[in-house]
Amino acid sequence: MAQGQTSESVAPARLVIHNIGLLLSGDIGNPILDADTVVAVNGKISAVGKAKDLDTASATIRIDAKGTTLAPGLIDSHVHPVAGDWTPRQNQIGWIDSYLHGGVTTMVSAGEVHTPGRPKDVVGLKAMAIFAQRAFSAFRPGGVRIHAGAPVIEHGMVEEDFKDLAAAGVTMLGEVGLGSVKDGATARQMVAWARKYGIQSTIHTGGPSIPGSSLIDKDIVLATDADVIGHINGGHTALPDAQIVALCEKSPRALEIVHNGNEKAALLTLRTARELKRLDRVILGTDSPAGSGVQPLGILRMISMLSSLAGESAEVAICFATGNTARIRNLDCGLIERGRVATFVMIDKAQHSPGQTVLESIQRGDLPGIGMVIIDGMVSAQRSRNTPPATMVPEVVKP
Ligand SMILES: [Zn+2]
Repeated sequence: MAQGQTSESVAPARLVIHNIGLLLSGDIGNPILDADTVVAVNGKISAVGKAKDLDTASATIRIDAKGTTLAPGLIDSHVHPVAGDWTPRQNQIGWIDSYLHGGVTTMVSAGEVHTPGRPKDVVGLKAMAIFAQRAFSAFRPGGVRIHAGAPVIEHGMVEEDFKDLAAAGVTMLGEVGLGSVKDGATARQMVAWARKYGIQSTIHTGGPSIPGSSLIDKDIVLATDADVIGHINGGHTALPDAQIVALCEKSPRALEIVHNGNEKAALLTLRTARELKRLDRVILGTDSPAGSGVQPLGILRMISMLSSLAGESAEVAICFATGNTARIRNLDCGLIERGRVATFVMIDKAQHSPGQTVLESIQRGDLPGIGMVIIDGMVSAQRSRNTPPATMVPEVVKP
């Protein structure tokens, strides 16, 4: 608040969304809420419930959901941003804004590894991580929040380096294995130093992604013990089935399934996690931009693929890309509950999908249509330019 202002002089931004047909919580323990209205004040959820029980007056933005479905904004747990909304990987501009039109409101960097001339010396890699953290904190294409500044560990780093990085605001490592450290013992030591200072870690799993990267097998993943088993289904080359099952069974860490991985290995991972009753460990990413391009609908495609081919209910599959990721990554989005950021995607059955409901359409393998995306209580996008058209779309009505 600026000097001289009082709290009375600034009217709170009050968002009221009513007439929600289906409210998906993002919480895998309780994915569908018995509610039709969400209220948010200054970008944070303040109430969730039935319209008749809530104070829905004095909205500054009022949205009639028109009976459509509201879910937390989708989180892409594995991206490789470089600079602003440009990626040199396929030389595209505006890729993040396109993901917004695929319902993605939050991205987590697994390393800014496509940066041309990426420094690999310790001073240089630390400087680049701090720069990326600052730059993406200050720049949000379309409103999308990008958690970036994820250094790739290299030989020669010492405990003090992780302490310095944490003190400078770095909260996560890039994929372990993309730098010179590829042995379990060194990786384990550095991941432990990172963890000591509150820095989360992710490890590359599987065969090399592009010329210059290399194989990380299950023994290295288990030895390293990073917080997230990054692309357990390969990026794109997956480990043998027995190794994937062993990782699910022997490690307690998050199981990250990515779009730009092996689909068969993705289904194996999901089925194994389900048998272990540990679906709460499953999170989704695209691992893009990549050799296979950028995928604005990648997270939606994963939800639909896992739901239709692995027989997971659509409401649970959506939790993989929302509440599960938020909890594992310590994010303030991803769940519809009081105090969380008011960041939502509003979807409906795509026009002419044979499913009766949006959930059924996803379980049949179709993509939902996005009618609106809201970030921090503000409308960031209306009818998506990228999904198939939603049957019904929400409408901003005069307060
Ligand atoms: Zn990778």
